[in-house]
Amino acid sequence: MRAMVWFRSDLRIRDNPALHHACREADEGVVAAYAVCPAQWQAHDWGAARADFVLRHVAALSRELEGRRIALRMLTTPDFAGLPQRLLDLAGEHHCQRLFFNREYEVNELRRDAAVTSLFEGHGLQVRAFHDQLALEPDAVLTGSGGPYTVYTPFRRAWERVFEDSAGPEVLPAPRARPHMLGKPDPVPPLPAGLPGKARADLWPAGENTAGRRLQAFVERRLTGYHASRDLPAEEGTSRLSPYLACGVLSVRQCLRAALEANRGRLTSGDKGVLTWIGELIWREFYRHILIRFPRVSMHRPFRLETDRLPWRDDERGLSAWCEGRTGFPIVDAGMRQLAETGWMHNRLRMIVAMFLTKDLFIDWRLGERHFMRHLVDGDLASNNGGWQWSASTGTDAAPYFRIFNPVAQSRRWDPEGAFVRRFVPELADVPADRIHEPDEATRRRAGYPAPIVDHAAARAYVLSVFRPGAAAASSGGLPRATEPARKSPRGRGTPGGAGARRSE
Ligand SMILES: Cc1cc2nc3c(=O)[nH]c(=O)nc-3n(C[C@H](O)[C@H](O)[C@H](O)COP(=O)(O)OP(=O)(O)OC[C@H]3O[C@@H](n4cnc5c(N)ncnc54)[C@H](O)[C@@H]3O)c2cc1C
Repeated sequence: MRAMVWFRSDLRIRDNPALHHACREADEGVVAAYAVCPAQWQAHDWGAARADFVLRHVAALSRELEGRRIALRMLTTPDFAGLPQRLLDLAGEHHCQRLFFNREYEVNELRRDAAVTSLFEGHGLQVRAFHDQLALEPDAVLTGSGGPYTVYTPFRRAWERVFEDSAGPEVLPAPRARPHMLGKPDPVPPLPAGLPGKARADLWPAGENTAGRRLQAFVERRLTGYHASRDLPAEEGTSRLSPYLACGVLSVRQCLRAALEANRGRLTSGDKGVLTWIGELIWREFYRHILIRFPRVSMHRPFRLETDRLPWRDDERGLSAWCEGRTGFPIVDAGMRQLAETGWMHNRLRMIVAMFLTKDLFIDWRLGERHFMRHLVDGDLASNNGGWQWSASTGTDAAPYFRIFNPVAQSRRWDPEGAFVRRFVPELADVPADRIHEPDEATRRRAGYPAPIVDHAAARAYVLSVFRPGAAAASSGGLPRATEPARKSPRGRGTPGGAGARRSE
């Protein structure tokens, strides 16, 4: 039997179920395929940072596979529509009888895979799809009544129970070299033109070995202090492995295994840093479960459908100021400039800037989600959507609408010396710590730094009035002008419900 392995967001040879099983079953040879789909990438908001990162990994993967006498063939087709036939032609060229791939769960990807499967099976070829992206299968963590969890904490408890009952994270070995190669590897095409943002090969080196070394270095040097330093953007307290996880150069099972080894196999007790980090990996699992069970979140719909009618503001100037990091709020601008310069942003800042866009500027979270996707090297639909809907209070287990971050208080708390702000907002480099979080007018003028584009207290009052239960009826005659920050979109208005004490953070 000859097999074809189709690589997608699983660009590795170790712990790759599709590759592993293909190599075990195919006694007459294995060929691999990767598809570059520039128009589809654009439609899915891939930016240059992510596309470049992926293509460099594809080149590294091709070399690894060649060392095992597996040729990686490249297919280029504008979008998914042309893919089934191209894959079938390639399978025919190499006389493959079986296609192997690891499942992807986004709506377009599911449709694409269904079309490929139906075409292959229609031509008498077998298709074998494997579970890979999650540590536990999508249906393994369900409530007592068989439904999905929609709140993180009970999900985490159930996840831990199921995980402890399982055999642990099985990490598959890389396949051994094949006796002979089918076909020859193709060169990897250059980065498609016209993608937004910029590539940063210097910051994000490619290759499975690099990813493995980064994981090891993080576990050895920083994991045990993770709980204490993970919220401080000026420090390198987190793993920065998200780009590698997002394109599958590293599997979540490899991360879990490394964390468990550092904690003498314990999942729910032991080192605080390890437990906190595992908790973040479980957030990743949680958002993927949500995406699988509620496909609307990958189709620009909010998880909480009633929030679809919130009167988000049309504010192109505010949106541009936010995108370009010139809002006049140093911590927000530092975060947005970190994204533009490096393709990555610290998690604490992702929450601060997302909350700022959706609550201070009251701009539709989908615009922020798209901007992130276009610039992040770790762009990942499930986690990005989850993070944005959390910040906008439109998602599952989201920040309650009355929990509105105060960007100045956040800056004082998480960047007390202003070290992070100084790094990314160099015009404030000489401003002392007591003034850097909220520079006064004289300081701003001297530094050439913009004035705040919004009054936080007024914006907060406005948002509370719009979100508050019953606001739809109360505000149907118009929102209070005094606190309304600007023009509104014509989407209509509504409320997501919810209640509780207000507080500002
Ligand atoms: C508005 C917003 C947008 C986001 N967009 C993305 C995105 O596109 N891609 C992405 O991978 N993460 C996203 N996140 C989650 C999180 O910010 C990043 O995963 C994290 O900053 C990556 O840095 P790290 O690898 O050093 O993480 P670490 O702190 O070392 O965590 C380890 C891994 O756990 C996962 N993880 C950590 N935090 C979260 C979280 N809150 N939700 C889901 N998974 C998590 C990531 O895979 C991460 O690499 C977003 C968060 C917010 C608030």
